[in-house]
This record gives sequence, C-alpha cells and structure tokens, in this order.
Amino acid sequence: MLKQVGLRLVDTGSCRHPEFMTIRGGALKPAVFPSLVGVIRHPDEGLVLFDTGYDPAFLKATEHLPERLYRLLTPPTIATPVADVLIDAGIDPDSIAHIVLSHFHGDHSSGLKRFPNAIVHCAKAGLQRVWGRGRVAALRAGTPVGVLPDDLPARSAFFEDMPLVSLPRDLLPFDLGADVLGDGALLAVPLPGHCPGHWGLVLREAGGLRFLVADAAWSSRAIRENRPPPTLTATLLGDANEVRSTLGRLHALTTRNPEIVLTPSHCAESAARLNACDGY
Ligand SMILES: [Zn+2]
Repeated sequence: MLKQVGLRLVDTGSCRHPEFMTIRGGALKPAVFPSLVGVIRHPDEGLVLFDTGYDPAFLKATEHLPERLYRLLTPPTIATPVADVLIDAGIDPDSIAHIVLSHFHGDHSSGLKRFPNAIVHCAKAGLQRVWGRGRVAALRAGTPVGVLPDDLPARSAFFEDMPLVSLPRDLLPFDLGADVLGDGALLAVPLPGHCPGHWGLVLREAGGLRFLVADAAWSSRAIRENRPPPTLTATLLGDANEVRSTLGRLHALTTRNPEIVLTPSHCAESAARLNACDGY
C-alpha cells in the first residue's frame, strides 16, 4: 500500500505545435499544449516537485541561435513559473528538498535553477545524455545549455540506483517502480521511448492512484484511443517503437482500470481540471 500524499498540478505555461505532430490523424492547425508541474505534499518531506516546467530561464537560454531554434519550433508562453507560484503561496523555493524529474527536456527542466537546495531525482541515462555536451548536442537532446544548474551532478540521485519495489497490482502491466524516497510513497516507473531516461511517477492520493506519465503521451485522449504521435515526431527525439510500446501499455492499464488517473504533462484536459484540485 503506497503512503498517501497530496497533489496539486500547476500550469507553468504552454507551447504550440500543429496537432498532427502529437497524435496520428491530428489536425494541421496549431494546438496549445500546457506544461504541467506536480506539487506533491509528502507527509514527512514537505513539498516535492514532479518536474519544474517552463521558467524565464528557458527564454534566456534560447535567446540566440542555435538554441533559438527550440523556441521557434515550439513557441512557448510562460504563464506562472512554479517557483513564483510557491512564493505567492508563502513558500520559499529554497525550502524544497526534492524534485523528481521525468526527463531533461527544457520544458521540464528549465525551472531547476530556482531550487538550489533540492536533490534532483532523475535517470542517470537522461543526465548522461545532456551533461557536459556542446551547445548543438545539448540542443539536439532537447536541453539548451544554460538551463541546468552547475552543481546538478553533485545533487542528483538516480532512479537506476534506487531499490525496486512491486507496484500495486491495479497498475498492471506496469509491475515495478523505483522507491524514490525509500518510504514507498513515490514510485518512479520507466516509460521508455520519448527520449533516453524518460520516467513517470506513481503516487496515491486520497481519491486513489495517480500515474504522472510525463511525455509518454501528449494527451489523455492519445492514451484512451491508443494513438501514438507520427513516427517522424517520435523519431526526432526518441525511439518510435518504444513510444508505441509504452503507449500501448498505458492504454492497456487504463482499459483495465479506468479509475486510475493518468496525467500526461502536456494534457489540455488535465489542465482544464486544475481548479478542482485541493490546495497545497
Ligand atoms: Zn515535454
């Protein structure tokens, strides 16, 4: 039984893509994709973030070419950086002790510098892909040089090194998770395909199980209908076969257990329900 936590989703901003790039058979016209961050209230550890979303640091890091290409390809609108949302709620970002990072793409990692005291729980495979790379290589990996804190390796903890525990049977075909805090509250689950080192997070809220699936799908609809992005988009950043396989497993899960809430980071449906969430 997972320890119960609280969760609030924060919409940190959005970017625009033609819908067809994100779901097979989608429309040509641009659609807006929010960038959601999970603010988890843990009973002993205080607030834990799932990703850090967009932050003005993203704009700074993509001001010039070649990084500017990132901004041109996925034009962002930065709404409410999660650090500022916390400050407005009277919470000092310096007090955040843990961040769980699904992957290192700029729309998930550009807020990291605002949390200088947090341990960053992440995939070793993801960090190795971006750390110490040149500007072009880092950009191709989706992480503009400049968004990552200089001391990141020193305060990273890797999913691959964490103890594996069994997931509740309700989550089949997903069966194992990495126990992030060692107390069975937050279980990181590999969701391969989107990019090297891409993981989701399982937690239990008062209402039941939730699976934060990051960019394993662009929308809840894509999971319900088992509609992956076109091969071109999937191949650009990751592995199209793995994307399809991971989406198929999420589809199988939601078909067996529709009451488990699956939340993709860029899902407009999930963003529209934000007002229904509890406070911090
Ligand atoms: Zn993303």
